[in-house]
Amino acid sequence: MRKTAVVTGAGSGIGLAVARRLARDGARVGVFDLDGPAAEAAAAKIRADGGDACAVAVDVADRAAVDAGLDEVRARYGPVSILVNSAGKDGFKRFVNISAAAWQRILAVNLTGTFHCCQAAVPDMIGARWGRIVNISSSSAHSGQPFMTHYVASKAGVVGFTKALALELGPEGITVNTIPPGFIDTPMTRRNEERGFLGAGVDHHAARTPVRRPGRPEDIAAACAFLVSEEAGYVTGQVFGVNGGRNT
Ligand code: NAP
Repeated sequence: MRKTAVVTGAGSGIGLAVARRLARDGARVGVFDLDGPAAEAAAAKIRADGGDACAVAVDVADRAAVDAGLDEVRARYGPVSILVNSAGKDGFKRFVNISAAAWQRILAVNLTGTFHCCQAAVPDMIGARWGRIVNISSSSAHSGQPFMTHYVASKAGVVGFTKALALELGPEGITVNTIPPGFIDTPMTRRNEERGFLGAGVDHHAARTPVRRPGRPEDIAAACAFLVSEEAGYVTGQVFGVNGGRNT
């Protein structure tokens, strides 16, 4: 039977590649993004490739919107059995200049958004005694990153959240893993390069990466495809690094 997947942040970058890959692998995909037109465009691309997808404009920090979005997907495709949380917001500021509002918003999207989506989808998975959750964290949660204390704290929270949830849901047939990407060429990365936040830029960092290239969104999608597969049933609570060898 075809599975129902929800991918957040699927209008761009990593989420988009994951949504396209899961659709290609046979899932029906709910494409969630804050940017409604981007979600629509992503769903249209998937349908043009022969897949099945519907777009929902959702702010993952808004629990009512998450609940309504999941209901829309369920009504169309049935219970959700795969969830990939890729929606994310970054930020670069000296620690002393981070406002309380900026701190709250980054935590609300990256950490609380992951909580909302998991809590809203997990009852379907418990009902089916089968589920797969992948939370996109960040390699910066392991290495640290100056001027990103709010972002790094939120992503470290996602890593701990993933480990705890995996232990709780293992007996229900649900796996929960996290992929901390390292230096993936996405619109987020290019925006940061343009603003001068990446020092000498993408090419400079790629040259210092053991595999000598930036990551591609498809690299994360491939790892995700494995983690949500039937055969990954014994892999849970893991931090599954995809970073070209930048962090070992
Ligand atoms: P991206 O190209 O900016 O894609 C992120 C998508 O999430 C955007 O479409 C964005 O919409 C959406 N989004 C933001 N806030 C949202 C919200 N509150 N609710 C729903 N959707 C929201 O970034 P990316 O590089 O693919 O990043 C995907 C994930 O990977 C993020 O969690 C990021 O932190 C993580 N990550 C990326 C890298 C990397 O090297 N690229 C490294 C480590 C971790 P808007 O454009 O409207 O904001």
